[in-house]
Amino acid sequence: MTPVAMGIPQVHRLTPVLPGHLAPGIADRPDTPVLVDRYGRVARDLRVSITEKCSLRCTYCMPAEGLAPIPAQNLLTSTEITRLVALAVHELGVQEVRFTGGEPLMRADLEDIIAGCAAAVPGVPLALTTNAVGLEHRARALARAGLTRVNVSLDSIDRQHFARLTRRDRLPSVLAGIRAAAAHGLAPLKINAVLMEETLAGAPDLLRWCVDEGVSLRFIESMPLDADHNWTRDHMVSAQALLEVLGKHFSLREIGREDASAPAEQWLVDGGPHTVGIIASVTRSFCSECDRTRLTAEGTVRSCLFSDREVDLRGALRAGATDEQLADLWRAAMWSKSSGHGMDADGFTPPQRSMGAIGG
Ligand code: SAM
Ligand code: SF4
Repeated sequence: MTPVAMGIPQVHRLTPVLPGHLAPGIADRPDTPVLVDRYGRVARDLRVSITEKCSLRCTYCMPAEGLAPIPAQNLLTSTEITRLVALAVHELGVQEVRFTGGEPLMRADLEDIIAGCAAAVPGVPLALTTNAVGLEHRARALARAGLTRVNVSLDSIDRQHFARLTRRDRLPSVLAGIRAAAAHGLAPLKINAVLMEETLAGAPDLLRWCVDEGVSLRFIESMPLDADHNWTRDHMVSAQALLEVLGKHFSLREIGREDASAPAEQWLVDGGPHTVGIIASVTRSFCSECDRTRLTAEGTVRSCLFSDREVDLRGALRAGATDEQLADLWRAAMWSKSSGHGMDADGFTPPQRSMGAIGG
């Protein structure tokens, strides 16, 4: 039954709030410290974007000229990121933190951010989503700083296809970065590949490479989050189309999800032990299981990739808000999380921010 049919009121846009003053419409929120929303989901997985800058220009994400630069004073500092991550873990029940962007390796102080967070939230997994360009030179320092694991985005192991899709000829650096991360124990290392028409034929080669390297691969359906707004459902490659291509080269047996909140459905490759995951964000949405909360590089809480409603924590933090006031703002932001991405609804319009500007 849909939330509307169950009589749950439609979510109202949060109005700007002052520190300590909760937004209208959250009076019915249960008295719990965790990041619960109206649909009963609890966010435990925090994505922290730390920059809009990137060393690549993937066509499904960035414009050729890159995103408009965020003025330096609007970016969260390493100290501010550490404070908000600590608050998310200690006050709000977050259990895993992932740094993303833009490209997180573009920040020279990434090691400081990781070290600060590792000290503030000992034992909490700290992960990185990266394109791995230049990672070979920093994997050791990042592992020493306390980074636990890495997801690398890699869509093709064909150098020309890679260069066309990312608008940069950096495949050798990416492969070196993947190997360096594995060598420094940043495990389990996962590769994420966005499904595109241009790279579909190369998907079996990418899977073969990952099997040979001993890293796990997940394919992701592309979403309408490209800065150029070129995404169309007609040109989107579905999980089903991928399975047909892979099925000509491998025997695949579906084995389900790793756990209920894991977005990837897993398939055993050639009888195992290797698996391949497919995240069918568009054709088999997992919004009802979503356990994510997002912090943008400018310090706003974003409850959903597809919702432009954001709550400004940076302003409150710099105005002297206490941890409890910041936590209340975060709770209010998540209480109003939408039920789903709404891509199937009539009149759907993509969010204003693209994936690289939100933090995927
Ligand atoms: N630069 C890093 C990277 O590429 O891994 C981190 C940021 S990137 C925005 C995070 C993830 O979002 C990547 O795995 C990327 O492939 C994915 N992504 C970007 N645009 C997307 C889109 N339109 N649809 C689906 N995934 C997308
Ligand atoms: Fe950069 Fe990652 Fe976006 Fe590619 S997907 S343009 S690497 S932020």
